Amino acid sequence: MSTVRVRFAPSPTGPLHIGGVRTALYNYLFAKKHNGTFILRVEDTDQTRYVPGAEDYIKQSLNWAGLELDEGPDQGGEFGPYRQSERKALYAEYTNTLIDNGWAYRAFDTPEELDAKREAAKAAGNHSWQYDSTTRLEMKNSLTLSKEEEATFLAAGTPFAVRFKIPKDETVEFVDEIRGKVSFQTNVLDDKVLYKADGMPTYHMANVIDDHHMAISHVIRGEEWLPSTPLHVLLYKAFGWEHPAFAHLPLILKPQGQGKLSKRDGAKFGFPVFPLVWQDGEESWAGYRETGFYPDGFNNMLAFLGWNPGTDQEIFSLEELIEAFDLEKVSKSGARFDYDKAKWFNQQHLIQKDDEAIAIDAHPYFAEAGMELSAETIFKVVQLYKERV
Ligand code: GLU
Repeated sequence: MSTVRVRFAPSPTGPLHIGGVRTALYNYLFAKKHNGTFILRVEDTDQTRYVPGAEDYIKQSLNWAGLELDEGPDQGGEFGPYRQSERKALYAEYTNTLIDNGWAYRAFDTPEELDAKREAAKAAGNHSWQYDSTTRLEMKNSLTLSKEEEATFLAAGTPFAVRFKIPKDETVEFVDEIRGKVSFQTNVLDDKVLYKADGMPTYHMANVIDDHHMAISHVIRGEEWLPSTPLHVLLYKAFGWEHPAFAHLPLILKPQGQGKLSKRDGAKFGFPVFPLVWQDGEESWAGYRETGFYPDGFNNMLAFLGWNPGTDQEIFSLEELIEAFDLEKVSKSGARFDYDKAKWFNQQHLIQKDDEAIAIDAHPYFAEAGMELSAETIFKVVQLYKERV
């Protein structure tokens, strides 16, 4: 039996960007290639950023792209629940474990007190104040309060956060499947909040506990999470757990210029950055599906944003992608988005399709354009224009 278990772990804070779909696709391809399990875990612990409808949108997007889930909120599975808001008891329990074994502490500092520290540091010409081994002993926490004082705070219901005690002067090392050996100095890390005053864990805490409890073998996610990984590695160590393998995917870059592709770029350059149309109040954001992309053309285009098979073949069905996919061929550097190339991929898939199937798919588009044509006429149009659209 294969032990490959991977998860796609989006936060339902809005529609899924194509970068997110690519992460899901790579996880799916890796799972299927190794006869493994592809899991959806909804990371909804940040209630201030929760967007109604986003979870459904994510599921519909995966469904449209044909990335079938083996386990998830709707599929169920042995490792559920698959929504973090339903796993709260687990996080509370493990937070206490870390406090008990000295890896974490309660911090009673108010937001105003923290702001005052930052401001004072700024005034002194030091821009980056952080809660860490050099400052934690000046703060109001389990390490500086007496047992009695802390008990009084707790009895009075004083809000507190639980922070991780990052060790001083250590080097954290791990192997990234795409980047090779990565190392971080612990002195650059801050004592991250693991558990918030509102009784919810932060991303880091919930993510590590769930990856362990769901027996995740490989964490495949975007590069933006690489700086959080040393903290995660330390958390695994604090729990006495082995960490999964990590693979951080390169960013998808703007067509021109610097930086990550954003939803505004789509509007600016006239291409969709979302798989399906997304309605946000008055604003509507275009989707690949509605623009006329086929799921296989869309997947093919996404697969090539950061990966290539190392051969000349460019046109792949989902089955062929599963066969060819390999984390070792994922590139370390960002992949520039090219909408013309995206359309080319879709066109190649369109050309391979049966004329009649295209005619059926095309029917609503003619109707929408006010052209009531017979099925026979549409079929002829398809035959004539298929290679040219
Ligand atoms: N919830 C995180 C996100 O929205 C998941 C990151 C991860 O895969 O660890 O991207």
